[in-house]
Amino acid sequence: MTGHLAVIGLGPGDAALLTPQAATALERASDVFGYGPYLARVPQRAGQLHHASDNREEVERARAALALAERGARVAIVSGGDAGVFGMAAAVFEAIEQGDPAWRALPVTVIPGVSALLAAAARVGAPLGHDFCAISLSDNLKAWETVTRRLDAAASAGFVIALYNPASRARPWQLGAAFEVLRRRLPGATPVVFATAVTRPDERIEITTLDAADPAGADMRTLVLVGTATTRRIERPGAAPFLYTPRSEA
Ligand code: SAH
Repeated sequence: MTGHLAVIGLGPGDAALLTPQAATALERASDVFGYGPYLARVPQRAGQLHHASDNREEVERARAALALAERGARVAIVSGGDAGVFGMAAAVFEAIEQGDPAWRALPVTVIPGVSALLAAAARVGAPLGHDFCAISLSDNLKAWETVTRRLDAAASAGFVIALYNPASRARPWQLGAAFEVLRRRLPGATPVVFATAVTRPDERIEITTLDAADPAGADMRTLVLVGTATTRRIERPGAAPFLYTPRSEA
């Protein structure tokens, strides 16, 4: 029997945003690997084994999944959002490149998911209507100087910026420092969105400005969107404003 590995994005939280392709691949799996809280979102069908692991052990988790697939199992490995966006997919390919040459012959499929930046943007209008980029504020795997250099370049170049991993208990100061870098390049009135736990029961969306943005509004379940000088805010009676970034620029 030949095994295989499916790398699956689960979407931002709501089961309705799990794609049918991802749901089918999960049903077919004999074994599902993932970080505990993500794995908890996968309904466990009879006979299916769930292998939960800690957040930091990504490459080890990828190796374990590949080794099991090599022995003939139908293995799935899951990430929140899209697995290719600051998720497990890159860890899987890192493991393949460095690991057992036999792993290169395994059928490996990456199944896309709805990334947090798409779900968060949809909640407030169309802030990603023009050029944008995504930057992780985690300095676990890169130098903080790299992060600030990219923030500065992205703001100077006029990209809307999606900030992943803005804060955690172990990284409490990074978002405040990031706002300081951005304030040197962008007008104080630039729209900023704190989108926390999007599509989950405790979802919270806050629309503010770069001047007023308080880093304390973010935790590890928050996606922060920073607009550009062209991002527009449409006020509405009795409702949150719409934000959008126009498709054309002068
Ligand atoms: N692969 C994931 C990102 C993993 S990195 C994706 O494509 O969405 C983890 C970061 O993603 C979190 O710190 C947060 O910034 C963001 N995130 C993931 N799910 C989210 C959600 N439901 N609401 C807001 N942000 C989310």
